[in-house]
Amino acid sequence: MNLDTLLAQLGNRQDPVTGSVSAPVYRATTYAHPALGQSTGFDYTRTGNPTRTILERAIADLEGGARGFAFSSGMAAVHAVMQLFSPGDHLIFSNDLYGGTYRLVEKFLRKVGIEASYVDTSNLEEVQTAIQSQTRGLFVETPTNPTLKVADLQALGDLCKTHQLLYIVDNTFMTPYLQRPMQYGADIVVHSATKFLGGHNDVLAGLVVTKTEELGNDLYFIQNSIGSTLGPDDSWLLLRGMKTLALRMERHSKTASVLAQYLSGHPLIARVYYPGLELHPGYAVQKKQSSDFGGMLSFEVIHESMVPVILKQVRLITFAESLGGTETLITYPAVQTHADIPEKIREACGVTQRLLRLSVGLENAVDLQMDLENALTEAAQITSS
Ligand SMILES: *Cc1c(COP(=O)(O)O)cnc(C)c1O
Repeated sequence: MNLDTLLAQLGNRQDPVTGSVSAPVYRATTYAHPALGQSTGFDYTRTGNPTRTILERAIADLEGGARGFAFSSGMAAVHAVMQLFSPGDHLIFSNDLYGGTYRLVEKFLRKVGIEASYVDTSNLEEVQTAIQSQTRGLFVETPTNPTLKVADLQALGDLCKTHQLLYIVDNTFMTPYLQRPMQYGADIVVHSATKFLGGHNDVLAGLVVTKTEELGNDLYFIQNSIGSTLGPDDSWLLLRGMKTLALRMERHSKTASVLAQYLSGHPLIARVYYPGLELHPGYAVQKKQSSDFGGMLSFEVIHESMVPVILKQVRLITFAESLGGTETLITYPAVQTHADIPEKIREACGVTQRLLRLSVGLENAVDLQMDLENALTEAAQITSS
């Protein structure tokens, strides 16, 4: 079945008794046993919840994996995946990694003896060079946050296969509607479902998909043991948001592409990062491995002093963290999302004090462009006077 069909039907007719078209929300924490040694399949809600199960099945199908798991946040999902590793293991990560994942690695994984290297995963040679005898995994974001560097998923998949590395892809920015990393060899896909999958800035959630049943069993053991599961109401809310994912991702991509073009030609903009621009170094790879370019773009203004003015002067666009919702958000990565990353590493990744990030929402492109134009003009006037 095509993904848009799967998405539109999420949760439909899952309750054979009523034929409910919307997934039923099971708030019960415990489930009656028919007899000693028997179970309906549900015993206790951390171990399994019928609403969460519908969501978990859905994300597994969407990513083309064997098993899906829902967590209380994207970070909880990443944390659970990291429990697959042991002291002494070495992992390779994309260098402009989501700030929270970087913090988790540096403050928690290192403490238990897991080693990490950060490399530009859009550069295959750099990844190859970073592989050591103890390397057990590769964790990739593509496109990255916030400079939208594109990694070649197939090439990295081949590399992981050769070196027997667990291949993990954070697919938050693209969602399975635009990009399915398992087609290129990924063993595990993780999501902050708080972003595009949820899509409405109203639910915090994380998802994991494993390619094999075997990895699924390991992850299930971790999920049930640690207990950072997603509640039934949030599971329902996420399913509800995901039903419109196909439409949303198409529109996010279309509008982001319009705005990227507009900003590219703007005299007050020094640089635009959007993989859908033909001049972007990752354009060809992105085009090959994804069905569109997504709703995230970043841009550098010509003077740092313009930044506070723009953040104050935008009226339609909201100055806030996060991404993937219906409302367009503007973020200042150096101060907001990437503050935990040391300045030297940050600057080397292009996360300068002049960089702003847009999560392009579902508003009309003309209105968004006008809002940006007004804020930029205002910023230019104030800074030059
Ligand atoms: C937001 C985000 C996370 C963390 O997810 P939460 O739901 O905020 O815990 C992880 N990876 C990426 C790429 C993100 O954007």
